[in-house]
Amino acid sequence: MRGKAAIVTGSTSGIGLGIARALAADGVDIMLNGFGDASEIKRLRDDLAGEFKVKVAFSGADIGKPPEVRAMVEQATRELGRIDILVNNAGIQHTSPIEEFPDERWDAVIAINLSSNFHAIKAVLPQMKARDWGRIVNIASVHGLVASTNKAAYVAAKHGVIGLTKVVSLETATTGITCNAICPGWVLTPLVQKQIDDWARRDSIPNEKAKQLLLAEKQPSQEFATPEQMGTLAVFLCSDAAAQIRGASITVDGGWTAQ
Ligand code: NAD
Repeated sequence: MRGKAAIVTGSTSGIGLGIARALAADGVDIMLNGFGDASEIKRLRDDLAGEFKVKVAFSGADIGKPPEVRAMVEQATRELGRIDILVNNAGIQHTSPIEEFPDERWDAVIAINLSSNFHAIKAVLPQMKARDWGRIVNIASVHGLVASTNKAAYVAAKHGVIGLTKVVSLETATTGITCNAICPGWVLTPLVQKQIDDWARRDSIPNEKAKQLLLAEKQPSQEFATPEQMGTLAVFLCSDAAAQIRGASITVDGGWTAQ
């Protein structure tokens, strides 16, 4: 895919970084996005550019803010020359029973996990349509397909991402643009580590025990999926072989949603 360019939101860590690495390994120029230490982000950019001989740009846009999403798309178009691939990956979590769920956490989860996808897709589609080629990959979750307690905003947002994915795939059905969702189960990233730490603290158990309990509760394989596996799947969805995969929600969940 050398010569193509991608934005991967939330790619300074976890799944987004795994996807950015996999695309770069395939020759794709990348715009990284996300929060983090400036020197660490510079190191990431230099490493990817050096290892895979691709351009690596960076936007610190807060994708919960629509004007910043639009500015990120403009910056990527300017610095990389084009956007062929959009991976909507950035996301946050907040867990609490619904009566205690803070209003501002609800608003933030919906803005970052759902509305950002709408604003980014809206901003990139015109140029994808002009070239009649594009790949949009939305990182939803098993929580876009099934629910768990204490995750009202996250589950609502991820179900929304799957609905949005289907609409975009229909509106682009006769073009060379595809839009699909990946639905990971547990992947051991900082987002999940925080939930393990909370569990260990709440039940006064060792971190390792909390990790086993978290897997045992939901993921039949009893193993975490990995950012590298998400990266390989995203690269496949961007390939010509996947041109007729449209509006799909593909689970990588160790059997979670087969139950
Ligand atoms: P992570 O916390 O490791 O990474 C999140 C990334 O998003 C980071 O780069 C962070 O800087 C960035 N980010 C957060 N808020 C942002 C904002 N407002 N603007 C720009 N960037 C922002 O999380 P992860 O586990 O890699 O999650 C990535 C995606 O995968 C999320 O959408 C998440 O819901 C989804 N997901 C994760 C799992 C899992 O088990 N880890 C499972 C299913 C779905």
